[in-house]
Amino acid sequence: MNDRVYNFSAGPSMLADEVIVKLRDDMLSYEGTGMSVMEMSHRSKVYLAIFEDCKARLKRLLGIGEDYEVLFMHGGATGQFSAVPLNLMKTGKADYIITGNFSKKAAEEAAKFGNVSIAYDSSENNHSRIPSSDELKLSADADYVHLCSNNTIFGTEWKTFPDTGSIPLVADMSSDILSRPVNVSDFGLIYAGAQKNMGIAGMAVVIIRKDLAVKDSSRMPVLYNYAVEIKNDSMYNTPSSYSIYVLDEVLKWIESIGGLEEMEKRNRAKAALLYDYLDSQNYYLPHAQKDSRSLMNVTFTTPDKDTDSEFAARAAERGLVNLKGHRLVGGIRASIYNAMPIEGVRKLVDFMDEFAGEKR
Ligand code: PMP
Repeated sequence: MNDRVYNFSAGPSMLADEVIVKLRDDMLSYEGTGMSVMEMSHRSKVYLAIFEDCKARLKRLLGIGEDYEVLFMHGGATGQFSAVPLNLMKTGKADYIITGNFSKKAAEEAAKFGNVSIAYDSSENNHSRIPSSDELKLSADADYVHLCSNNTIFGTEWKTFPDTGSIPLVADMSSDILSRPVNVSDFGLIYAGAQKNMGIAGMAVVIIRKDLAVKDSSRMPVLYNYAVEIKNDSMYNTPSSYSIYVLDEVLKWIESIGGLEEMEKRNRAKAALLYDYLDSQNYYLPHAQKDSRSLMNVTFTTPDKDTDSEFAARAAERGLVNLKGHRLVGGIRASIYNAMPIEGVRKLVDFMDEFAGEKR
């Protein structure tokens, strides 16, 4: 493992060494079967045990109640931008809270299927903050309210969620699911692409309150139909079988370290290292406003674009890779998801201080 780098990629991103080693050990022959999980029928007894274990662990870790179903779907989080309005727009109206690029994309997709009302849009402050509840213009008759819990590109994150009463709250948790405990019963539906805190790309995990999956489905694409997925236990067609197995291994790792409370503690400690450093100096400029800072994606800039590029290139020479900001916003972005060890963040802070010292 000595040549592994600290990978600050926003996704696909780092997996814990323990998980990667387990995947390697299982690669040629999973538990004496003589085959890789990749090569197994999704209907086989051995695979179904993995599948059931994964669902049970996710339910246990997140405290998901009996009135919810866990679905493993295709098409990543973007697929859910379409699936959510297709299934949940019962009367054709929804409120969308825009706090970044992905929530904007979700709103644009939903507008193809019904009336989308924008309850808040942080574009005017370059998505540097999360609104308070009283800034939201929520409609009394929306079918649901949609938000994105962590803004992967700009580095902001909801600390508490708005109370939408009897109107279901839908959250895209792609970049912070499993980073902290969450009260699932506050949501009608939670979805997340798997390639950050849940494993590898290609799959979306959906946690849906069962009563919401009941729309007339005559014209709905079958793979985006929640009722069909619930009825067939996510196996209407071949599920992303290897991704589900990787998720199971990630969940085992999270349980082994002490669950989501411990995960949050570690994530807070890592983020504090970076933000405390940023607040202690005046060379780098943090992007997110203090009360909206993400524990997962830490965004800042050096004095100019060329220096941003130099910073990322020089950091990579030290084994601190993928620090360049998203192409839409530039600057630097350090994604410090669950699997990033605190040593990686310490090394980054040391490098930042050294680099700033040279430039001043
Ligand atoms: N939502 C969020 C918050 C994301 O970070 C991403 C991907 N970075 C997406 C949606 C899109 O996910 P996917 O590529 O799985 O469709």
